[in-house]
Amino acid sequence: MFESLSDRLSGVFDRLTKQGALSEDDVKSALREVRVALLEADVSLPVARDFIKRVQDGATGQAVTKSVTPGQQVVKIVHDALVETLTGSDDPGKLKIDNPPAPILMVGLQGSGKTTTTAKLAKRLKEREGKRVLMASLDVNRPAAMEQLAILGTQIGVDTLPIVKGEDPVAIAKRAKTQAGLGGYDVYMLDTAGRLHIDQELIAQAAAVRDVANPRETLLVVDGLTGQDAVNVATEFDDKIGVTGVVLTRMDGDGRGGAALSMRAVTGKPIRFVGLGEKMDAIETFEPERIAGRILGMGDIVSLVEKAQETIEAEQAEKMMKRFQKGMFNMNDLKMQLEQMQKMGGMEGVMSMMPGMGKMKGQMDEAGIDDKMLSRQIALINSMTKKERANPKLLQASRKKRIARGAGLEVSELNKLLKMQRQMGDMMKKMGKMGKGGMLKQAMK
Ligand code: GDP
Repeated sequence: MFESLSDRLSGVFDRLTKQGALSEDDVKSALREVRVALLEADVSLPVARDFIKRVQDGATGQAVTKSVTPGQQVVKIVHDALVETLTGSDDPGKLKIDNPPAPILMVGLQGSGKTTTTAKLAKRLKEREGKRVLMASLDVNRPAAMEQLAILGTQIGVDTLPIVKGEDPVAIAKRAKTQAGLGGYDVYMLDTAGRLHIDQELIAQAAAVRDVANPRETLLVVDGLTGQDAVNVATEFDDKIGVTGVVLTRMDGDGRGGAALSMRAVTGKPIRFVGLGEKMDAIETFEPERIAGRILGMGDIVSLVEKAQETIEAEQAEKMMKRFQKGMFNMNDLKMQLEQMQKMGGMEGVMSMMPGMGKMKGQMDEAGIDDKMLSRQIALINSMTKKERANPKLLQASRKKRIARGAGLEVSELNKLLKMQRQMGDMMKKMGKMGKGGMLKQAMK
């Protein structure tokens, strides 16, 4: 699946990952190639454009993580953008089938794999969720299609509605509903007629069936190999009938994969399942992470970058600890601590995580310590020069005035901040000395 798209993208990134440093131009030209690869995979132009923009925004200004090449990092950014583009619903595999008997309407063009998918889903519901399923074919124009569903039903051990010659699709749908109710079924699936192209009659028939069945889910089955056409078909079906999700079939083939990427972006409808072969088990819920991995074919790089990012964080913590042990704690360190606290939900957030701290809150309020204080303190630090942050001892009266004015605050607040920095520095030093990294190491884990 996705062979060609994956190959193209791999080529682009192979070149990138081999280079040491990466210039903005390198990224730009690589992204141009990614765009061509996407278009060749039949991803629609607006989607490709949007996708590239997303990657560019993600890449710009992002610090390159040590121990991976910039190219590898771009791969990760592309991967994340793919996942984002592909993600359509939180739990695509969960079908709405409460209130039995729940009707599921299956629609799609002839040959898309509709009947096969109906049976695959029925088998899944039966085996994974223990549901009793009834399947009914409404394809009155093609008796062979009705036979096909009956054969598949026997094969997977799922009941099918007996075929009655001369009945129209609406009557069959009604009979299926009655039968499902009487027979105590959890779900009944209506496999509607397909045609080679969308036409008035097909739509009218599907709409009539929809109106009597009132389906909980209307799943559109489309052939993933048809690329942009699949997306057009989905748009049209959704406009005319309304669908709750898409099943992309033939994703086992070496299709161009573009349909998957464009589908949600263009139609706004989530892909719920992908068909991966002719066998009855060859169906999977749609997982953006997995599909993105297959499209890129570079899962290794993605996890490498993830790991590198984690290592960097650990390394930073280690470095900081060493500085603290030597009694080095400047305004940059303090700023980092303050920002960390902000991230954890401010003073209140940090307090709420510590047992028994509720009482302290009242005292803090009295002392004027609140969440705004954090932002004020950070503003003060931002107002210092690089030199001043690294060495707060430089702060004499005139500098203090300048800094306080820069932050729109009083010098007295700056003095409080300086005191805090000194006290925290002392505390860090003591903690650091308590056995090589003892407490602090624990605290930083
Ligand atoms: P329908 O006309 O839409 O009902 O299509 P069918 O269910 O009869 O499927 C048409 C053909 O496609 C059959 O030979 C199926 O076995 C095949 N098919 C269906 N889904 C898939 C799939 O996901 N992968 C592959 N390789 N073949 C499939």
